[in-house]
Amino acid sequence: MTFATLGLIEPLLRALETLGYQTPTPVQAQAIPAVLAGRDLMAAAQTGTGKTAGFAVPLLQLLMMEGPKVAANSARALILCPTRELAEQVHASVAEYAQNLPLTTYAVYGGVSINPQMMKLRKGVDILVATPGRLIDLFRQNALKLNQLQTLVLDEADRMLDLGFSEELANIYRMLPKKRQTLLFSATFSDEIRTLAGQMLNDPLSIEVSPRNVAANTVKQWVVPVDKKRKPELFVHLMRKGRWKQVLVFAKTRNGVDALVDKLQGLGINADGIHGDKPQATRQRALDRFKSSEVQILVATDVAARGLDIEDLPLVVNFDLPIVAEDYIHRIGRTGRAGNTGEAISLVCADEVNMLSAIEMLTRQTLTRHMEQDFEPEHRVPDTDASGQVVKKPKKPKKPKASGGGGKRNLGKWVDSGDVAPAEPSIKPVRKVPVFNTGPRKKK
Ligand code: AMP
Repeated sequence: MTFATLGLIEPLLRALETLGYQTPTPVQAQAIPAVLAGRDLMAAAQTGTGKTAGFAVPLLQLLMMEGPKVAANSARALILCPTRELAEQVHASVAEYAQNLPLTTYAVYGGVSINPQMMKLRKGVDILVATPGRLIDLFRQNALKLNQLQTLVLDEADRMLDLGFSEELANIYRMLPKKRQTLLFSATFSDEIRTLAGQMLNDPLSIEVSPRNVAANTVKQWVVPVDKKRKPELFVHLMRKGRWKQVLVFAKTRNGVDALVDKLQGLGINADGIHGDKPQATRQRALDRFKSSEVQILVATDVAARGLDIEDLPLVVNFDLPIVAEDYIHRIGRTGRAGNTGEAISLVCADEVNMLSAIEMLTRQTLTRHMEQDFEPEHRVPDTDASGQVVKKPKKPKKPKASGGGGKRNLGKWVDSGDVAPAEPSIKPVRKVPVFNTGPRKKK
């Protein structure tokens, strides 16, 4: 199959060729014809599957073929994203796909001054990418009208709900024309998302290009058990031993990010951090420098977990496990993208055993453990498996081992999660806490 056989117009085919896209990815093969046919869409796609082009390319074609010229202070298509970084990234992709078309595109988000955004919207834009809070502000200040809106895209819809945007989404829903096309994309699909889809979508076509809630199987994943207080030391040890060149590291809290960055910088390691307390410009600069390899280690809270596309990122390290198990999938989805292979290493302490268990249950795999010599934990991490069982063994005094404790296990086995049968949970999964260190909720 080629992009031409999907019925795309020549200027789009040329743009895709320039970008080196030769064959449509599975989500593109399904989404492009459906969007062109005017269908509503409910698409569950893994991160890094090419979903942005899956919705943006046919959307551009529809805007070329149908509808009036955009009016002042209006948008003909709206793409809603959960975070500023994702909005910037989606906008950059849309602009690339639109390079040969006379259509205008723009991104608006919070954390930066609203005035330039209001000015820019005066002439209207064909495609507006927005985070929910700023979109509502612009609408309320009459800088944006939505009566011309033909298409709404909800990107990373589950993340928007996790970030507590359900009220904003309900408000935006009321601002939209009833007759429109709606495309909902989400890496994971919870029942809450299905309810939202029921309200917002009209007879949607469901697309599911990967098994539900399964992490990319191009990512080699393993866990290193360690005591909490020794995590920074272990990180530095693994970094040196593995000669890590470019690593995205996830920490749970803003303080955790700052502390690790300080420690690494103190050792002369080229590290930077991003989290919701940092101004947008600083966050973007750190990300850009990381992408261009000027920064070797980027430490982030989950604000960076979604959608960020960093070319050929070889390694993601979970310095802390995420509180919400689904975030594990999004975090490790930063690597192994578009068919490349990647690695994801999680440093896990005894306190995190329930999170580990929830992740294994969700991804239907038991993560391989690798005990690092001289870092064997005093507080043992109980055994877990994909059934959600945490096996509590009586504590035995720890004997130092020469190498590879915890039984003989292969390091970083390739996980083909598809062949592990889903199991019924027998413990409560980790509570879903919709609290993150991100900025989009903050009102200026
Ligand atoms: P996305 O899932 O939209 O963030 O895309 C992940 C990465 O795959 C991005 O770097 C895209 O540029 C790239 N990509 C998307 N579609 C294709 C394709 N058909 N062929 C090659 N690369 C692609």
